[in-house]
Amino acid sequence: MKLISIVIPAFNEEANIASMYAKLVKELEELPYRYEIMFINDGSSDGTLQEILKLAAVHDTVKYISLTRNFGKESAMLAGLKRIKGDAAIVMDSDLQHPPTLIGEMVKGYEEGFNQVVARRSRTGDSKIRSLFSSLYYKLINSITDVDLQDGEGDFRLLSRKAINAILALSESNRFSKGLFSWIGLSKKTINYENVLRTDGDSKWSFNSLVNYGIDGIISFNMKPLRVCFYTGFLVLFLSLIYIFFTLYNILREGIGAPGYFTTITAILLLGGIQLISLGVIGEYIGRIYNETKQRPHFLVDISNVDEYDEP
Ligand code: UDP
Ligand code: MG
Repeated sequence: MKLISIVIPAFNEEANIASMYAKLVKELEELPYRYEIMFINDGSSDGTLQEILKLAAVHDTVKYISLTRNFGKESAMLAGLKRIKGDAAIVMDSDLQHPPTLIGEMVKGYEEGFNQVVARRSRTGDSKIRSLFSSLYYKLINSITDVDLQDGEGDFRLLSRKAINAILALSESNRFSKGLFSWIGLSKKTINYENVLRTDGDSKWSFNSLVNYGIDGIISFNMKPLRVCFYTGFLVLFLSLIYIFFTLYNILREGIGAPGYFTTITAILLLGGIQLISLGVIGEYIGRIYNETKQRPHFLVDISNVDEYDEP
């Protein structure tokens, strides 16, 4: 009988673990499959781990990995995917924002033969500003990167074993899952659902971390920002040359006029700005190269009740 694995990264979610488990089991028991529920404690400072251990002590379907510190959701997810044994996995948040009631429909998609079944949320309840920024961001990222990202599609999805292995084969340290899920390709089905607001605990995303995540998304999947620097530099150089010839021509005809404070300062500021931005973009890429060359593990496991999954 097939095994479905649920992968749940959790960072300071003590209030949600038990109810999450209860809701999950209700759905999973309906399926004609075996299941395992993998919680990844991502260095929580509250009682998250204790809650998980309590469950694991009574239910042998509950697996856990506890990381040595907070490595971030991307790493926690990866840790989970590495150790589950399922023929398919469903990745979901532990804050009940990803309704377990969708599991049945997702599994149906898997039975139909899809390798990825994505649950896509609406933006109901999000602040206007956040929705606006998100939709602008998706327009931008889709126009400049080679992967196709959809607004509302996140990590909440079912992956077949084939998709899981494809994801695990990507070893980069700067992980931007949304992009990776799209990059691996494979057949995909989308299910829509109404956005659910968080009831317990706080979102781990600050405005800053969202902006950083956004930059990660753009830089991880293409080199176009570097090219933009190149073209801008080229354009400015071209315009400057025209300007220089034009001024020179005027000087030759009419002699040196008033001191050109305005033009000088304009050129300095314009060029300075473009150079700084370009340096920043180059720096982003170099930083990433630096990170990748260190080849550090993505996470470290403190305790766990499962070993790494070896393909049979
Ligand atoms: N999470 C994690 N490590 C982190 C931050 C978040 O494992 O460093 C988990 C968190 O417990 C939750 C999921 O990732 O299960 C999504 O986090 P959150 O609800 O804060 O994000 P949002 O829903 O606001 O996008
Ligand atoms: Mg959430």
